[in-house]
Amino acid sequence: MSLIVTGSIGIDTVETPDGQKAESVLGGSSIYFAAGASFFTSVRLVAAVGEDFPAHFHKQFQRFDVCTDGLEERAGSKTFRWHGRYHANMNDRDTLDVQVNVLGEALPPVPDHYRDSKYIFLANTHPAGQLELLDQFPDRKLVVADTMDLWIDTEPGLLKQLLGKVDGFVLNDSEAKQLTGESNVIKAADAVLAMGPRFVVVKKGEHGAILRHQDGTGVLPAYPADAVIDPTGAGDSFASGMMGYLASVDDVSINAIRRAMAYGTVVASYTIEKFSTDRLAEIERSHIDQRLDEFAGHLDIGAGI
Ligand code: AMP
Repeated sequence: MSLIVTGSIGIDTVETPDGQKAESVLGGSSIYFAAGASFFTSVRLVAAVGEDFPAHFHKQFQRFDVCTDGLEERAGSKTFRWHGRYHANMNDRDTLDVQVNVLGEALPPVPDHYRDSKYIFLANTHPAGQLELLDQFPDRKLVVADTMDLWIDTEPGLLKQLLGKVDGFVLNDSEAKQLTGESNVIKAADAVLAMGPRFVVVKKGEHGAILRHQDGTGVLPAYPADAVIDPTGAGDSFASGMMGYLASVDDVSINAIRRAMAYGTVVASYTIEKFSTDRLAEIERSHIDQRLDEFAGHLDIGAGI
């Protein structure tokens, strides 16, 4: 099943605590998402960049099998830019600069041949753009959205509207607390569920992820990574493995979502091994499957414990 995504495409500058800096590299939520999901199913991208978008980024992204007919390079506009710096724990980060630019404008038109998309991911971007895409797909089977602190601060009304229309919501623990005012992560997840979605996934970085739905809870640790170079895009990559797997098996049950979260964890574990999409560009689907097997081995808690 085809998967459609909108979200940010960014020119990122990233600083990590060991003094490394990646300057003006390809980033953005929809880039990490589309790259990761392309290992599972056919992916369609709807997003805009400005006329300053570097030509070599197109080349870099061509490595991934993603349909970019819905990618517009808009004359007179500027590409979204983000500059972040990670704390020593490689989990928390400060945004030093963000320039919304083209993300504050209308989405490009959705190509006609995208119209049969049933799986939709609304990666982190301006919620007006997320709603604009969603409203064009009345026959969708599964729609999941992500967001970030900036939009919780600046667009709470639009986010509430969005939450009323999606099946699932993924966000990290600090965003869940910011959105709901609840400091306990389970209470925060329940407060998100009360806003509309059927399930919510709260990502907790190196501490894994929690699935909360009307009938219960699932927990999943993170992949035990020993070489984290750059965590940027981990959240989007998690969502990419999750949605990519669900679209590939065409199953939206809670059981499938639990398995999908394990795939998400594995895709994220690759993304953080290098800056930008550099590590994802080196792997194949077989690497993901092998690491999933290894990860499943770590999850076996044995009988009688
Ligand atoms: P993640 O690490 O998964 O949260 O995603 C990081 C990516 O999100 C970076 O590549 C940024 O370009 C992008 N990003 C940062 N802030 C925003 C924002 N407010 N809206 C959309 N994308 C953003």
